Amino acid sequence: MLSNRQLFLMHNAQTTEMPLLLEIERAEGVYLYGPQGEKWMDLISGIGVNNIGHCHPRVVQAIQTQAAKYLHTMVYGEYVQAPQSLFAKALCDTLPKSLNSVYLVNSGAEAIEGAMKLAKRVTGRSKLMACIHSYHGSSHGALSLMGNEEYKQAYRPLVPGIDFIRFGVMEDLSKITEEHAAFFIETIQGESGIRTASKEYWQALRARCSEVGCLLVLDEIQAGFGRTGKMFAFEHYDFVPDILVLAKGMGGGMPIGAFVSSKEYMHTLTNNPILGHITTFGGHPVACAAALASLEVLQEENLIEGVAKKAALFRSLLVHPKIKEIRGLGLMFSLQLESFEYNKKVIDQCIANGVIVDWFLHCSDAMRIAAPLVISEEEIGFACGVILEALHN
Ligand code: PLP
Repeated sequence: MLSNRQLFLMHNAQTTEMPLLLEIERAEGVYLYGPQGEKWMDLISGIGVNNIGHCHPRVVQAIQTQAAKYLHTMVYGEYVQAPQSLFAKALCDTLPKSLNSVYLVNSGAEAIEGAMKLAKRVTGRSKLMACIHSYHGSSHGALSLMGNEEYKQAYRPLVPGIDFIRFGVMEDLSKITEEHAAFFIETIQGESGIRTASKEYWQALRARCSEVGCLLVLDEIQAGFGRTGKMFAFEHYDFVPDILVLAKGMGGGMPIGAFVSSKEYMHTLTNNPILGHITTFGGHPVACAAALASLEVLQEENLIEGVAKKAALFRSLLVHPKIKEIRGLGLMFSLQLESFEYNKKVIDQCIANGVIVDWFLHCSDAMRIAAPLVISEEEIGFACGVILEALHN
């Protein structure tokens, strides 16, 4: 009989020549477990997803309860399904008043696609603006917004009329004009190796977008849901986007995404033509039940309050001559190393010693660290010990 690993390689489409091939049997808290008794600490939260840890009992319970009631019943936007309404209300309660209408989809890229369409409808404009080294997803529209030619060139033609500026650079803001429907930007740039911008930048960007009538679309797919020490990263910078795009950590481990805006803007999708954006599975009741439970866990278990202290502990322990820089905010940060080859060697050794870390799509010489927010101080000490040991070798 073929092993699960052989079947995976034979019948599951591959995305790289060098998949990690860790076989997972179960997961709990900050740990993944393999069939041979292996145990790995997941220091990347499945790429920014498991903010409340793996298989949180309240999320599992919510999934089981909803699964026993009903699964799919109808395409999005027709029937009243309590998990969707309750989750949308709870989410809006965490957001500024102008972000009061939630369109539920299945993933980050899908939410970006919806936001691209919404911006065109609201403004009547077609050009878009995005950042160099951005990542917004892998579907055609989201890929068109990606600020890295290497990943795009094989898939052209893509969506036309998209301009790019540098992330966090004030001088470039004047390139946003009356022609642009929207500027898509990550609050913390993730796949570029974790880059932050100053509060002054965000204030100036907000002012520029308002001045020229370009919608400010914030991608918090990776930075949202407590990861940076606030529920949403834009709260650090004191401004409000026109459209907020969410996914990843939102579902507590279940697939779900959303674009959030004002009721007035969202209304443009309902007419001329009607059904301006359609999804069969978007806002699946089981995913919504999980998302609601996950949000409640974040709020009631005070996980976000603990982020700053845990991040400071990581930074105080991760001191080594090979670490050139630590970039990021809260539990979304990176270690800048000297080369991809060295980074890969260190990452492989960390994984062999039971701690999963990673690199970035547009920044292969930096190490990704995005621990579940539930990680304990003792676990942080263990993880940093494994990383420091790997850096020595
Ligand atoms: N936007 C950002 C900032 C991301 O990090 C990602 C995924 O890594 C996406 C969008 C795309 O999300 P998904 O993989 O759910 O389509």
